[in-house]
Amino acid sequence: MRRRLAAGNWKMNGTSADLEQITALMAAHPAPTVDLLLCPPATLIHAAARRVADHPMMLGGQDCHAEPSGAHTGDISAEQLADAGARAVILGHSERRQGHAEQNAQVCAKARAAQDAGLMTVICLGESLDQREAQTTLEVIGAQLADSVPDTATADTLVIAYEPIWAIGTGRIPTPDQIAEVHDFIRARLQQRFGADMGSAVRLLYGGSVKPDNAATVFAVSNVDGALVGGASLTADQFSPIITAL
Ligand code: 13P
Repeated sequence: MRRRLAAGNWKMNGTSADLEQITALMAAHPAPTVDLLLCPPATLIHAAARRVADHPMMLGGQDCHAEPSGAHTGDISAEQLADAGARAVILGHSERRQGHAEQNAQVCAKARAAQDAGLMTVICLGESLDQREAQTTLEVIGAQLADSVPDTATADTLVIAYEPIWAIGTGRIPTPDQIAEVHDFIRARLQQRFGADMGSAVRLLYGGSVKPDNAATVFAVSNVDGALVGGASLTADQFSPIITAL
């Protein structure tokens, strides 16, 4: 039985004043029955980790470098994230793939580094609107999955997030059938590659315009084990009902 996971991605939003949202979220969910992961900007991880203290909420980064250290100005390693208090990292988000030209092989190298540092990896996959309209969605997702996920992945360290690019920040969400088609496909591919046990244990998140009013519909879809939430994870008021719907 896969434990459900509600993950929040703050992207490049938030300063120390917003740590209050994390405190409010913990107060609203003192003993959550699902896993909680919040990925604030790297500047807030250490302070957030101190606040989270004994609460089961996990903190995560939004990217990491593939090397543990070195001459990489402006980059952050998986070790540094872990040292700051992170237990997970988002990798291969479409905003990294598009804005920083990240390729599958780089995402895969980062995932290996994150695993070596003891972090859970949330590897993001997703097609553009052009690719969906050209009916190449499953082809695109299949290639991203094959090339971004390392052979060394384990059920405990790997989470996949399906985030159609056209649904991110747009308020436009795929139909339950469209989500099910992709999630069932990812599940089948994972089972083929890693065997039935591990392939069945990896959690699959949906991401893209998840809000309090559509969360229950999304969570009822086959092979959806949770969500990766952007805008609606920024405030406890919005994120809390999504967690409850899970
Ligand atoms: P929104 O929930 O703001 O659409 O963002 C989704 C996302 O990109 C999470 O990683």
